[in-house]
Amino acid sequence: MSQYRTFTAADAVDYARQFGGLDDPSSLVDAQEVGDGNLNLVFKIFDQTGQSRIIVKQALPYVRVVGESWPLTLDRARLEAETLLEHSKFCPQHTVKLLHYDTDLAVMVMEDLSDHAIWRGELVKGSYFPLAAAQLGEYLAQTLFHTSDFFQHPHAKKADVIRFTNPELCEMTEDLFFNDPYQLHERNAYPATLESFVAELRDDHQLRVAVAGLKHRFLSHAEALLHGDIHSGSIFVTATSLKAIDAEFGFYGPIGFDVGTAIGNLLINYCALPGLLAAREAADGREQRLADVREVWLGFAERFLALAAEKTRDRALAYPGYARAFLQQVLQDTIGFCGTELIRRTVGISQVADIKKIASEPMRDECLRHAISLGKTLIVAAPHVQDIDALIARIRQNG
Ligand code: ADP
Ligand code: MG
Repeated sequence: MSQYRTFTAADAVDYARQFGGLDDPSSLVDAQEVGDGNLNLVFKIFDQTGQSRIIVKQALPYVRVVGESWPLTLDRARLEAETLLEHSKFCPQHTVKLLHYDTDLAVMVMEDLSDHAIWRGELVKGSYFPLAAAQLGEYLAQTLFHTSDFFQHPHAKKADVIRFTNPELCEMTEDLFFNDPYQLHERNAYPATLESFVAELRDDHQLRVAVAGLKHRFLSHAEALLHGDIHSGSIFVTATSLKAIDAEFGFYGPIGFDVGTAIGNLLINYCALPGLLAAREAADGREQRLADVREVWLGFAERFLALAAEKTRDRALAYPGYARAFLQQVLQDTIGFCGTELIRRTVGISQVADIKKIASEPMRDECLRHAISLGKTLIVAAPHVQDIDALIARIRQNG
């Protein structure tokens, strides 16, 4: 039986030769650790021509950005691998292909997506991928519908809720999304110039009640197998293709959490663009982001409704009109969780390139204020927004 040890580059090459499924495994000669994420080791495995062919990802027994003082379960590699496999069953075209995984070594071997680019990096540069939003909507609908009670057998669903129980990673989300930004906490990472602005979050009763409600739903609503962290940095794109990676936060949670996280990251880019690009390009980029947000929601909702009409197995949930009524609740959750994503990415520890790449400090502060205020508005307004066009109108009103 394999036992956990942290891989060196040479270990990663050996492992990729064994489990990469290549016809010519001995062509793999070199590895480079490229993990720019916060948690894990990621090795690219190269052949003699210097081309990257396979990815080996290994979980460390702690949070990489913080160090050994923040231990974290190795079981996250199994959860990531099994979530990717489950999602691949229903949406292989938009899920990174897993080739092999080993629970004891906490390691995964994956297809190399080096011909794609991380969407966040492209959004920061102002590059537009007009197909990506519809593809993301399709990914969300396929993965979330097929793992929900509309489609899963109730026994299989309950077994999967157990299999995908992910207490440690969920606790990170519970703290980083719903606690830290609304209290004084050493993990928060906003500039001192924003102190009084951020203090208003702590003192806003209506906001705090709404955030408590969102956290409660995150804790208790096992609606579908979520990706759990589907932000623009977990999405690879080309002009024609979109692939989700990094599903270690996978668990059964509220559908609106995934949709809201995805939309929230598009809106962070919307808020950051005036600090990243010249005025004309920033204005165009913002319109593209709003179009993206609309397209993600409509792509998701329309496909979900079509799947529900065609494939719902539960007799009561199949009753005409129920799926549409359910999606209305998902829209409200989406808007609320989207607001919490905007706030945790600006006030909390998990800062993003969209904001960090803004060179001018006053401009960065202004974009941060915009994102925080939009987050607050959306969290409070969520129960009153009736459709996607009303959401877009609210976003425009907010500046
Ligand atoms: P973490 O879980 O530590 O956040 P990620 O899964 O986000 O790690 O991967 C970190 C980085 O490694 C990605 O941003 C990307 O640059 C690279 N990477 C991860 N998976 C792949 C892949 N399948 N193909 C190419 N690069 C990848
Ligand atoms: Mg990760």
